[in-house]
Parts: sequence; structure tokens; C-alpha cells
Amino acid sequence: MTTKVYDVIIVGAGSVGLPTAFFLAQAGLNPLVVDQFASPGQGSNKAAIGGIRATHSAPSKIRLSLESIEIFSTWQDTYGDNIEWHQGGYSFVAYQEREERILKELLAVQQSYGLDINWLDRDDLLEVIPDLNRKNLIGGTYSPGDGSASPLLTAHAFYTRARERGAEFRFRERVTGIIRRRGRVVGVRTDGGGYATETVINAAGPWARSVARMAGLDVPVVPDSHEAGITEPVARFLEPMVVDIRPAPGSKNYYFYQHKPGPIIFCITPDPPIVGTDRRETSVFLPMISRRMVGLMPKLTNIKVRRTWRGLYPMTPDGFPIVGRAEELEGYIQAVGMCGQGYMLGPGVGALLARLVQETLTPEDEEILQELSPYREFEAEEKLK
Ligand SMILES: Cc1cc2nc3c(=O)[nH]c(=O)nc-3n(C[C@H](O)[C@H](O)[C@H](O)COP(=O)(O)OP(=O)(O)OC[C@H]3O[C@@H](n4cnc5c(N)ncnc54)[C@H](O)[C@@H]3O)c2cc1C
Repeated sequence: MTTKVYDVIIVGAGSVGLPTAFFLAQAGLNPLVVDQFASPGQGSNKAAIGGIRATHSAPSKIRLSLESIEIFSTWQDTYGDNIEWHQGGYSFVAYQEREERILKELLAVQQSYGLDINWLDRDDLLEVIPDLNRKNLIGGTYSPGDGSASPLLTAHAFYTRARERGAEFRFRERVTGIIRRRGRVVGVRTDGGGYATETVINAAGPWARSVARMAGLDVPVVPDSHEAGITEPVARFLEPMVVDIRPAPGSKNYYFYQHKPGPIIFCITPDPPIVGTDRRETSVFLPMISRRMVGLMPKLTNIKVRRTWRGLYPMTPDGFPIVGRAEELEGYIQAVGMCGQGYMLGPGVGALLARLVQETLTPEDEEILQELSPYREFEAEEKLK
């Protein structure tokens, strides 16, 4: 009897692992994806609120997200699945000079990378978002090419299309070890058995550090908790994702948008951060964010909240993902530390990983990998994590 050897084993069927499996299978390889949970996208993926933007401050994330937006926006026409993509744009609003200054400094960088983003003064911004509180409003950035989609529908679409192309999945199975022989990967061990491969991709999201340790490596990914919620659906009145970066007691920024079928989906960044893997929601979140949202947009006063939840951002010290091959162990690849943007980065990262595995990287890919290298100094800081 011969043991089946997989071209690649991906640890994690999440925002990164699922598109990676799809692009590898699309290229004719036979990946296996192993996940501890019962179905695709049950880690951080399903906690994401669905925001997708290319308007970052570093070339690597801009390029990855531009590739992602191309994939999200053409998915339904190409593969037939409705992932609820909506190109409503993003707007970071300013009510104080501090935010105006931060956003305008960032804008100069974003425009230098050719991104479609502009500053709108108060009246022009109110044309785009008429329901913003007008008191003290200075203006804001507006990037019409950004948008949103459904994380769970996206996960399901990548999963279904990856399987159609020959990718295999094992759910309810935890990876417990990475098997090495003479300095290279030869397989993975799980609580359900073992599988042979010469390439393992760590796409374990908030749990990435413990998977890296199985390979004898350390990776600085520390999860922290963020909470989110969804309202009843209402008639469309809001196009862009609205981001308010003003700090307030107990929280940093918060953001919300109207999802394609009508509900408002919102989430907040707690301050100080709540470090750890606890996914039970708190009772302080909803009163805190509702006050801030209704202050920013009084029209939301009577909308009913249907559900709240809590999920994890897999954070890195500098706010940038960690993607690349390990130098210490041949055949082991990190695709971790997606922070608050793993859903939007996922398709771009998946396509990049497929090129990395096939050794078909472009010069642009090499630059991305250099910026996101596991061996960088972690000294820079992403402005909008
Ligand atoms: C409230 C909230 C809102 C957010 N909003 C957005 C947003 O609008 N846009 C955006 O882009 N991002 C958003 N994010 C961030 C996004 O959810 C994450 O960055 C992203 O999901 C991380 O993807 P991942 O593939 O790295 O991890 P995951 O999606 O968590 O996938 C990792 C998978 O690995 C599996 N795994 C781990 N260890 C093992 C093991 N030992 N064996 C087997 N399986 C294992 C897990 O079960 C999991 O399914 C948000 C996050 C939160 C919490």
C-alpha cells in the first residue's frame, strides 16, 4: 500500500487557507486542508464584518488587496456564487483637526501609490453620506473602489470551488505536530491520523503561534478580541464603510456599513486591547458602540440590533502580516498575522502563496514577500491596523 502524498497541507480553513486551497487546486495541485472546527470559516473568518479596501499605507498590503478586490468583484460572474460583493467605498471621517491631519498625511502616501482616494470637504462628504452628524464635521477621505462582501458566503464559495478542483478537507481534526526529517517537512500529525507532504502552510490565524512551535519555530502572532454586531435590515441609505478613528473611553476606532441585503454591520477596537483567545461577547460592547454610532449618525437611533459576537484579530508587533518560507525548515511556509484585515487580504494572499509554491513569483510578488518577511525587524508601524 502506498501512502498518499499531498502537494501541500494547509493548516486552517479560514480567510487565508480557503483561497490558498482554491488557487493551488486551480493550478492542478492536490492540497489538503485540515481544520479543528466543523466547517469552513469558523475561526476568525466568520467574525469579520466584511470590509474590503485597498486603501492601506504600505505597498505590500495595497497590492494584495487590489488583487483581492479583483477576485471579490468578479467572483460571481466567473464562478456563479453570490458572495454579496458591493462596491460602496470607504470613508474615514474627521471631526477634529487631529484626525484631519492624520488622514491627510496618509492620503498623500495612498495617492502616491495610485490609489483612487480623495479628501472631501464637509459639503462634498455630506453628498456621499447625507446622514452624518453635521456638527463639527470637517470632512473625510473617500475611496469609491473599496467595498464589502459576506465572509461566510466567500468562505463557502472558495471551499466549494476548491473541492470541485480536487482539494481535500478534513474538519474536526486538529493538527498536533509537523513531521520533519533531515531539516525538511515530510508530513503533519493530527488527532485523527497523519498525512504526508513536503510543503506545509501555516494559515492557523489566531492560533498560528502554537502551529509554528510544532515546526520548532516562533512567530510573533498574538490574538486580541474585537466585538461586532448586526442590525435588522433596512432600506438602503448608506453606501460607504464609515470609519471613525477618534479615540474615546474604552475604545479606539469603530466602523460600520450597510451590508448588501440591508443590515448595518458594525465593530469596535477596544482600548486597552483584550489579549487572548476568549470569544465570549461582553455586555459593555453594545452600549459603548451604540452611543458612538448614534452620535455620529443620529438616524440610527431606533434601528434594532439582532445579534452581537466577538472574534479575534491575529496581531503582529508592527501590524503587518507575516508571509514567507522558513529558512530553518525546508517546506514550511508562514501565512499568518493578518491583524484586522485577513478577510480582505485572503484572496490576494492565497493567489500569492499558490505562485510561491509553484515557483512562479513575479518581481512584484518578491517585493511583497520582502516587506512581509518573517525575518524583518518588526520596527515599522502600520498606520491603520
Ligand atoms: C469583529 C471583527 C471584525 C473584523 N472585520 C474585518 C473586516 O471587515 N475585514 C477584514 O479583512 N478583516 C476583518 N477582521 C479580521 C479577520 O477576521 C482576520 O484577520 C482573518 O479572519 C484572519 O484569517 P486567518 O485565515 O489568518 O485566520 P482564521 O480565519 O481564523 O483561520 C484559521 C483557521 O485555522 C484553524 N486552526 C488553527 N489551529 C489549528 C490546528 N492546530 N489544527 C487545525 N486547525 C487549526 C482554525 O480553526 C481556523 O479555522 C475582523 C475580525 C474581527 C474579530
